Amino acid sequence: MRIDQHTVLYAVIGHPLGHTLSPVMHNRAFEATGVNALYMAFETKRLEEAVNGLRGLGIRGCSVTLPFKSAVMPLLDDVDPLARAIGAVNTIVNRGGRLAGYNTDAAGALAAVREVMEPSGSRVVILGAGGAARAAGFALKEAGAALTIANRTPEKGKELARALNAFFAPIDDLRGIPADLLVQATSVGMHPHRDRCPLDEALIQAPVVMELIYNPRETRLLEIARRKGAAVIPGLRMFIHQGAAQFRLWTGKEPPLEAMEAAVLAALEHP
Ligand code: NAP
Repeated sequence: MRIDQHTVLYAVIGHPLGHTLSPVMHNRAFEATGVNALYMAFETKRLEEAVNGLRGLGIRGCSVTLPFKSAVMPLLDDVDPLARAIGAVNTIVNRGGRLAGYNTDAAGALAAVREVMEPSGSRVVILGAGGAARAAGFALKEAGAALTIANRTPEKGKELARALNAFFAPIDDLRGIPADLLVQATSVGMHPHRDRCPLDEALIQAPVVMELIYNPRETRLLEIARRKGAAVIPGLRMFIHQGAAQFRLWTGKEPPLEAMEAAVLAALEHP
């Protein structure tokens, strides 16, 4: 890869960033499509200065991750209506010094679901009410699914259910709630707590089970769902598709999905 005076810089900001897979994914995408660009991770707690830095240095685009996805919104010039409804921005596009915020987690979740099923008219149970659940929830709602939100903290779950015009159910009381698709959007089961599962095995009954966690690639919940014969959607599918949507916004080109996936898989295998 040649870095010269024409190289355009992209970035991710947040903290911690020690395990982020975005740099390997995007740098491979630039390489595969011949875009003269570089993507760097900037671990920072200084959000406002980082955002000003995007303007000052002409950094063309930026991923935004925890804990800044909501806090970044008032610092931008424009926020896309879907990102505003979700209440989170994970992507900034710098158009000549004007910063616009988008949420590609929503598009990523929907594209991952559509690889396996069409959500329109389906019954979906979402576990969790954090940022990832909100993004997946808004996308699936827009696509015409009927949603039930189940969350450990009822207040947060009910609030999201209200925003989505969805039902609410306590996470330990899902018996009898029918689901064509179960979406696991809590952080339970994330590395290093790989043996944990947010649901009782008996309650994992949907014919399609989507996991949002991508490290580990195969969570306990996915293992159980596979064993029970469900079609599974691993968290990596959403991760790749949200990155692909970022690539489209930044470059206007079609993302090289296979190259991006190969880069992420290699990085997960050799951290
Ligand atoms: P978040 O905003 O912190 O929300 C965490 C959610 O997990 C909340 O609903 C929380 O419930 C629940 N939770 C945490 N600990 C729990 C426990 N011990 N028992 C039951 N519920 C528990 O996090 P987030 O940003 O939504 O991320 C959630 C997961 O999605 C993470 O693993 C993240 O890596 C993943 N993610 C994946 C992608 C992708 O592209 N695949 C994109 C974004 C996020 P309370 O409300 O009760 O606290």
